[in-house]
This record gives sequence, C-alpha cells and structure tokens, in this order.
Amino acid sequence: MKKNNNLYFKPFLFLGFFTGIFSAFAQNESYSEPVENKIEETIFVNLKDYSKDFVYDMKYATEDNFLKAKVYDCAECFLRYKTVKALIAANNDFIKKGFRIKLYDCYRPLSIQKKMWEIVSNPKYVADPKKGSIHNRGGAVDISLVDLNGKEVEMGTAFDFFGPEAGHNYIKFSKEILANRKFLKKIMTQNGFNSFDSEWWHYNLKAGLKDNVSNQKWNCN
Ligand SMILES: [Zn+2]
Repeated sequence: MKKNNNLYFKPFLFLGFFTGIFSAFAQNESYSEPVENKIEETIFVNLKDYSKDFVYDMKYATEDNFLKAKVYDCAECFLRYKTVKALIAANNDFIKKGFRIKLYDCYRPLSIQKKMWEIVSNPKYVADPKKGSIHNRGGAVDISLVDLNGKEVEMGTAFDFFGPEAGHNYIKFSKEILANRKFLKKIMTQNGFNSFDSEWWHYNLKAGLKDNVSNQKWNCN
C-alpha cells in the first residue's frame, strides 16, 4: 500500500520539479541572458552605489598628492563590478574585526597615469602607461584601515611615500605597524587580491589583471 502511494505521488513531484525549472529558465530569459551576466562582471560601477561602509580619502581629487594637483573632478571610487564585490567582501571581514577600509585611489584614467609617469618614471612606484596599471583596468585599489572611531591605523609611511619603507619587505618598524600591514594583507589576499611588494597600500584583484586599460572620464553628478 505504501509503495502504491509513492507511485501515485511521483508524477506530481516530477511535474512540480519541471515547472520550477521551466519558470526559472523563463525568468532568466526575460531578465538577463547568460552573456549579459558575463559582461556585468566587468562594467564600471560607482562603489558608493553598492556600499556605504567605506571611508573616502581620494587623494587625487585634492592637491594633497605627489602631483600637487587636483586631477580628478570628484572624489568617487569607480571600479569594475567584480572588484567592487571582492572589496565589499573584504570590508565586511574588516568590519567584523572592528575596522573599515579607507580608500585613497580606485580606477584611474590612462591620461592621469601618463601625468604620474612624467613625474615619477620608476616602475617600482608608478606603472609605465605603455603597459598600463591595474588601476587603469579598474582592478586595483589603494587603501588603508581605520578603526570604528575613524582613527587611522598606523602603517609606517604615508600613502604614496616613494621609498623602501613603503614596501612589505621593510621590517624596521614596530611590531604593531608590521602586524597592521600583515592584517591588511591577510584579509585582502583571502578575498581575491594580490599585494604589491613596494607599496603597502596597493592591491590588485587577481581576476582583473587581464582586463582592458580604460581612459573614460566618470560622471561627477
Ligand atoms: Zn595603487
């Protein structure tokens, strides 16, 4: 009797299963095709549209940088969508531990890269615009950490300090500073980013290294 019951209900279970598949497929077709999903990962988006949990200190939107010029019209953080997703995941990990990411630079138009290279033509500190920086590809961020009171974590040097002290291999700092750099690196690496030996603040999304260089200007409205 029990076996018969099972047989009786099975067709309905199957019908329900296929109806579910079919409606999911139909929804997929009407809202987004797989090809569009793939492009979406690489489109440029504004970080603030996806998270309010970051601290902004966009140095190139001020004169407080090594160019001594305000080269961005506004202090926005544009990145490819996949970079934004990884950065938010990293920030959530930092928040759980009582910190937040502070942003110095995100996407950087190629024209700005050329200006930087004219001033500092040293690939240890500025990428040659002929090759292009990962910043020009929307896959790099320059960051530090602040605690939940907004107090900056001590990292040993200022952002864009061009000297060996800015490097991960420089160890003549206090234990606290070395631990802070290590903490930043650990969480970023766990979330898909690579560190850069000569700059403690620079992180590249591993999945963004081969994206195209871009020279678009973003909308400041
Ligand atoms: Zn950088």
